[in-house]
Amino acid sequence: MSSDLSINDLISNLNGVGPIQRTKFESINIFSILDLIYYFPRKYIDYSNLVSINDLTPGDVCFKATIDKVCGRYSKRGLHITEAVAYDQTGSVKLIWFNQPYRKQTIKHDVVYLINGKFNLFSGRLLVNNPSLELMSDFPVNSARIIPIYSATKLISSKTIRQTMATIFKNDLQLPESLPKETLSKLQLMSLKQALYEVHFPKSFDSLEKAKYRIAFDEVLVLFLAARINKKNLAKEHALKIDVNIDLVKNFIQTLNFKLTNSQRQIIWQILLDFQKDYPMNRLVQGDVGSGKTIVALVASLNFLTNNFQVCFIAPTEVLAIQHYHTITELLKAVHLDDQVILLTGSTSPSSKIKIKDQIGHNEVKFIIGTHALLQEDVKFSNLALIIVDEQHRFGVKQRQAIQNKTSYQPHLLALSATPIPRSLALTLFGELSISRLKDKPINRHPIITEVIPESNIELVYQTIRQKVNNNEQVFIVCPAITSDNFFKGKSVEFIYQELKEQVFSDLNLGLIHGQLKSKVKNEVMQKFIDHKIDILVATTVIEVGVDVPNATVMVIFDADQFGLAQIHQLRGRVGRGEKTGYCFLVGERNIKQNARIKILEKSSDGFYLAEEDFRIRGAGSIYGENQHGALDLKFANLDDKKLLDKARIESQKIFKSDPELIQYKIIKDKIEKLNNISLLN
Ligand code: ADP
Ligand code: MG
Repeated sequence: MSSDLSINDLISNLNGVGPIQRTKFESINIFSILDLIYYFPRKYIDYSNLVSINDLTPGDVCFKATIDKVCGRYSKRGLHITEAVAYDQTGSVKLIWFNQPYRKQTIKHDVVYLINGKFNLFSGRLLVNNPSLELMSDFPVNSARIIPIYSATKLISSKTIRQTMATIFKNDLQLPESLPKETLSKLQLMSLKQALYEVHFPKSFDSLEKAKYRIAFDEVLVLFLAARINKKNLAKEHALKIDVNIDLVKNFIQTLNFKLTNSQRQIIWQILLDFQKDYPMNRLVQGDVGSGKTIVALVASLNFLTNNFQVCFIAPTEVLAIQHYHTITELLKAVHLDDQVILLTGSTSPSSKIKIKDQIGHNEVKFIIGTHALLQEDVKFSNLALIIVDEQHRFGVKQRQAIQNKTSYQPHLLALSATPIPRSLALTLFGELSISRLKDKPINRHPIITEVIPESNIELVYQTIRQKVNNNEQVFIVCPAITSDNFFKGKSVEFIYQELKEQVFSDLNLGLIHGQLKSKVKNEVMQKFIDHKIDILVATTVIEVGVDVPNATVMVIFDADQFGLAQIHQLRGRVGRGEKTGYCFLVGERNIKQNARIKILEKSSDGFYLAEEDFRIRGAGSIYGENQHGALDLKFANLDDKKLLDKARIESQKIFKSDPELIQYKIIKDKIEKLNNISLLN
């Protein structure tokens, strides 16, 4: 065995990892040894829990068996189904996989597999749904009793990952400790190297828990340190003080055909004060859908526009960018600044792009609206002083730097978000931001009528839909999943779309939108809905951060109990934005009416209250969600663990005081760097 393996070595430096293996690893974003050792198992199988087929009971099961009678077919709806039968001495059981056609080719006969999956009722019979398969021969009799299972893909198997992992730890791996010895002993934490080893090759579930806790500690420590460091770096930056012309602000506000809410006034004032400070503004404005965040941002921009500075407004989608462009141009007419507004997105034609970039570069336009395309290298601002980011909780520090590189000073940042994150969570996640909340809503809003409905009464919902569509109104239908690769829980948009299109509403115009569609297709579908060429839009939560379609009045949410309260609240904010009353139907299983959590939605329309309730009932995960979990890079840390947070916070203070540049903390510093590269919760 070669010795002295460094964590920064490329994966191809390992014995046995050739060019083909290397590309396989790269397909799951593993390039270095470090990447691989931080690729943690998806789950663990307790070998001592194996049962025989005869003794299987519904739920998560694990057994060893041979497999035969593998066949693949397509369902009526075009879904690929692979079926097979597993045998042991006691009996046989059916296995089923959805949308994994490669299974048929890869399953071998006459070998024993370790099979793990959900044993459940499907079409009236019990079978094992989407099981993972491991060759029994990969586990020598005397190997550990806890087996790590990694997320595998078509290209790379859990076994390859496990074997390569074993090779790494057999080498003399040079893995620096991320924390001082005193900290480890004081907090009784495992060493990093031991923790990483235990996570991949656990001796016992007890040591596995300790290992996870140690890694979780590092994860939160990184969050706290990142906030401290970013905040300090920002405070060092030279701010651009602008002379705020209060009359301009007042005049503009008077041109509006509504009165600002108290929250809007207060936050505008806060922002204008921020512009007088020595360091750049870094503010997050949280407010429910429809609470009027755009106006706040627009008022904040006025003085830049008249002082020859540029403002850049970044929207999460093209459709939203276009919509903002129209509203903002319209509103700025009153103060004769509308000719300063320009739109630049991915679909702007190449020739217009050249012209627009030229105008931006020569400061001929001052209010630049677009998507992330604006952050591309070749957009050269001439005098950018304020960046507004809509519907994104955290603008990546790196993204901000990318823009800063185009200016001689650090621009101010104003982030707008409709997700009401609980205060304590916000302090952990976005410690470097100042946070303002738009608490009260414009008075002319109709409340949305929310009703919880068991699926057996779905006909009532369909009747309402038909009635509203006959009345020229439009409908959103939201499901938690894209495909029905798991028939047992969760309605999918593809399933519902087909069913409604073929049976219930075959005479109406239906649209389908979800995150796996190309963004061009998504934009087209959304535009069709806006143009009322679609009556009913079946969607995943991609519409959550969405557009204003005042004509949409009904929001139906299937399997509502699978969503967070704040999330549902945001979804229902999509309807009833115009003159007509909005309806929200929360559909679920028979007993959904007894679901106290979901019932809260019938009573409260306060997004902040709902978020705090969600946080209290379901914990942090329900707020920042599964995907975001990945972006945050929290593999083991549980943000509900107050003790863990407290300990890490105290430690971060100490580290920051003694070594503000993190010279002694290379691993942590690298992780902060990585964190700064991503934007969270977007
Ligand atoms: P969001 O916070 O969801 O971004 P918008 O800024 O898009 O909300 O505002 C929603 C609508 O409410 C817009 O049509 C806007 O002009 C209007 N609006 C904003 N503030 C007020 C207010 N104080 N009174 C009445 N209408 C308002
Ligand atoms: Mg908005």
